[in-house]
Amino acid sequence: MDLSVVIPVYNEADNVEPLHAEVHAVLEKTGLDYEVVFVDDGSKDETLAILERLASQQPRTVVIAFRRNFGQTAAMSAGFDHALGQVVVTMDGDRQNDPADIPKLLAKLDEGYDIAAGWRYDRQDAYLNRKLPSKLANGLISRITGVELHDYGCTLKAFRQEVVRGIRLYGEMHRFIPAIASHMGVRIVEVPVNHRPRIAGKTKYGIGRTPRVLLDLITVKFLLSYSTRPIQIFGRWGLISGALGFLLGLYYTILKLFFSEPMWGKPGVILAVLLMLVGVQLISLGLLGELQVRTYYETQAKPIYNVLRVIGRPAPTDGQG
Ligand code: UDP
Ligand code: MG
Repeated sequence: MDLSVVIPVYNEADNVEPLHAEVHAVLEKTGLDYEVVFVDDGSKDETLAILERLASQQPRTVVIAFRRNFGQTAAMSAGFDHALGQVVVTMDGDRQNDPADIPKLLAKLDEGYDIAAGWRYDRQDAYLNRKLPSKLANGLISRITGVELHDYGCTLKAFRQEVVRGIRLYGEMHRFIPAIASHMGVRIVEVPVNHRPRIAGKTKYGIGRTPRVLLDLITVKFLLSYSTRPIQIFGRWGLISGALGFLLGLYYTILKLFFSEPMWGKPGVILAVLLMLVGVQLISLGLLGELQVRTYYETQAKPIYNVLRVIGRPAPTDGQG
């Protein structure tokens, strides 16, 4: 199969049917052997029922139904695990991405790129709580990962199948696939894409997502640079602080023991204690970080989603991907 289009949906009852029609209209014209994989992320509205009907009418439509809400990233992972296409395209199910842009992304992969990432140069979302934080986050992510994209958060992206096969994603990490894949040496290109305002349904996110994205950025950073270990980052500062505090403390102890200078009431003494405490804290943080990174690797075998059923295709799976 040439192409799988993966669309995570959560409570998009008013969007799935028009989107379904739109996507198929675009893809039929390409002449490709394709499938559209909707991942229902535990919707509480009519979304799944509508998708079921659509899948029974359109053989190229596949529906993966989760048992409960696992989040957009988990839904995307399930899509990757089930996709049969040589190329996998991801997009939002709220009609904000324009299916008409898919052929543009595919053309870039034909040129030899491994990832074509959409760039919503004219993003139709609120400025203060969506566009501004995302702008700042994009700058930071680019700096930290060294992969410069204007719009990490744009879901409309095309991947060569081998880039996403077996990739393990957590939290808000779907946006970091280009960064994670960069150490495989993939070629990435950015393609300006259309962005439409949300007409039906509600956005599931607000400013609250930004801190989670930033936390996941830390994980990605550790993934990318195997040499930067938490204990080295925190430990170094912990040692410096602890050593300074210790020396300062030693100085006052000597003053006290040999020159009978009183210790209490001196700012320097308080500083020494603080520096030593901060040192202990930082070293402990580093150790915790080490444990955390290890745990991260240990937990990779655990499924990150749970499939209730797959509609429109036989083989069942359970997210071991
Ligand atoms: N989504 C999902 N699971 C969730 C939240 C969202 O599958 O827990 C889907 C949602 O239905 C949509 C896409 O992820 O297709 C993007 O969500 P949304 O439009 O709310 O985010 P925004 O575009 O505002 O960033
Ligand atoms: Mg949206």
